[in-house]
Amino acid sequence: MAASGYAPRRTDLPVVISEARVRHLVRRLAAAICADHSEGDTLVIVAVLKAAVVFLADLIRHLTMPLEIELVNARSYSGTRRREAVEILDDVLELELTGRHVLLLDCVLDSGHTLAAVLGAIVAQAPASVKTCVLLRKRRPRTVDIEPEYVGTDIPDVFVVGYGLDCDNRWRHLPFVAELPEAAASGGGEE
Ligand code: 5GP
Ligand code: MG
Repeated sequence: MAASGYAPRRTDLPVVISEARVRHLVRRLAAAICADHSEGDTLVIVAVLKAAVVFLADLIRHLTMPLEIELVNARSYSGTRRREAVEILDDVLELELTGRHVLLLDCVLDSGHTLAAVLGAIVAQAPASVKTCVLLRKRRPRTVDIEPEYVGTDIPDVFVVGYGLDCDNRWRHLPFVAELPEAAASGGGEE
């Protein structure tokens, strides 16, 4: 933010999804996930760091089946060709998911490269089932073929922060999702 010289306060940011709506969406997603998964099977939730942590923490408190949680790092390559390739750090490959029921969780689906890459690594381990869940899906064309089974809501193709989403590791703690104006976002990189 310092780079742009524009440092907005949280009250300046245009709200995209209010705190009450986030809460409603999370409950609705949890109900759909519970309806689709047997109470007798353990579900392994694989959440993509760091953005999914807030969503994960809220979602799991509405899930009723036995659960295990795994946290994985996945980030886009930095540099001039940012976000055209995803580097999966080794922890995805170290999970033992063969024969397990897996739910891959992220906060936002943007280009789809991140989820597609992590999903590919999960599928390679031959899980019993795998579904994907995102709270937010941007309305934009996607070059990768990925359609999450569970989507909280579609949002405009703008850069958003809050509810786990950051700009330069800031704003994650906002209880709502807000647009970060171009002037503020241009100084900060994404993960
Ligand atoms: P994708 O690989 O689908 O393009 O992007 C997914 C990742 O990029 C997310 O996990 C998130 O870290 C980051 N990302 C994508 N769009 C946004 C956004 O609008 N705001 C923030 N803060 N991060 C985003
Ligand atoms: Mg980020």
